[in-house]
Amino acid sequence: MPTSKVDDCAPAGQPLLSVDQGRQRILDAVDVIDGVEQLPLRDASGRVLAARVVSAIDVPPFANSAMDGYALRSADCGGSSTQLTVIGSCFAGAPYDGELQAGQCVRIMTGAVLPTGADAVLMQEHAEREGNTIRFGNRQPHIGQNVRYAGEDTRSGDVVLTPGTRLGAAEIGLLASAGAAEVLVRRRLRVAFFSTGDELTGVGTPLAPGQIYDSNRYVLHALLSQADLECHDLGVVADDREAVRAAFRQAGDIADLVLTSGGVSVGEADYVTETLAELGEINFWRMAMKPGKPLAFGRLQHAWFFGLPGNPVSVMATFYQFVLPAIHKMQGETARMPLIIQVRSGETLKKPPGRTEFQRGILRRDEQGEWTVTTTGKQGSHLLSSMSKANCFILLPAESAGAEIGELVSVQPFCDFA
Ligand code: AMP
Ligand code: MG
Repeated sequence: MPTSKVDDCAPAGQPLLSVDQGRQRILDAVDVIDGVEQLPLRDASGRVLAARVVSAIDVPPFANSAMDGYALRSADCGGSSTQLTVIGSCFAGAPYDGELQAGQCVRIMTGAVLPTGADAVLMQEHAEREGNTIRFGNRQPHIGQNVRYAGEDTRSGDVVLTPGTRLGAAEIGLLASAGAAEVLVRRRLRVAFFSTGDELTGVGTPLAPGQIYDSNRYVLHALLSQADLECHDLGVVADDREAVRAAFRQAGDIADLVLTSGGVSVGEADYVTETLAELGEINFWRMAMKPGKPLAFGRLQHAWFFGLPGNPVSVMATFYQFVLPAIHKMQGETARMPLIIQVRSGETLKKPPGRTEFQRGILRRDEQGEWTVTTTGKQGSHLLSSMSKANCFILLPAESAGAEIGELVSVQPFCDFA
């Protein structure tokens, strides 16, 4: 990555960096962290797989029934009325020992091993039973009907999952079905974060004149908690050069990734950018986006550093657009495509050309069943309520001058950030 100090910062008045360029530079710079650990399967949920997993068994391990019914030989069936003799029964976990001969069937439950000689299962609803006899008219079960074959899900020797896979519920279940008791995953990413600002106080204390509650640390804590990593909350740091330096040193000592909020504008009490330039390496700091123009990105000791803006909605927008993709890459996850869809705007969207806007939107189906998006109303970057009401970002590209009602616009649902 380019690592010249301060020179890469675009001074005010210089062209801004586009969102895509910024994200690409960040992703080109960061890399997967070192360190793996072997974890019991249950503890690996949410982690990223560090080595491929090969199945030692077929899944399912044996041919079995997909239905409650009768296991039979399809060759015995046909004509206007088939009649078979029930010679026994088998349950999931309790197979039938014998072998089916011509004219015979076995009562079978879902998941039970298909008895030797049988090649199909007739649903119990399709059979009439009288004592040890079943009849089922002219039905002709075909070979394999209602049978789940051995290895249909995974074959012995198959690669079940590849490195870089995030282990969600389906993946954990898939590994369990193949009998994997432990898996090798990437170690947890260590993330330190703090807020900067003399006006900030923590919840639980009354507000003095001019103070506001520090919401960003709570926002960041909540965002990070969903990303399966180790969080270090370093509190609120005053707008004081020495205090900011001390917090930088502490964060750089413990973390792979450091996040701060506030203090990256060009105000007189904004020390984050200059401290990063002094103690680490800074790359750029003005993004062509709204909300969230000022953004510092760089290196602090062995950690990557993001100086996020102060306003809470800007924190969330920049976190989702820049920090989260970087976290995923550092965690070793295979790159994913963002989920961006085109829907009709339910209102006129105003915007001057120049910066990419992430307006807070509500994606819903209208009375005609068509998906439309409307904004949550006022879009100030200090208005967390606009974020709370939203379920998506409406992405208006830099060059766009807004959108008319009914025009197709790009939308990124928040579920993409899960
Ligand atoms: P700054 O970039 O430090 O000038 O902050 C920009 C705006 O965001 C100011 O109105 C700050 O009061 C506000 N802000 C900064 N940090 C926080 C925070 N942790 N929680 C809520 N608002 C904040
Ligand atoms: Mg500030």
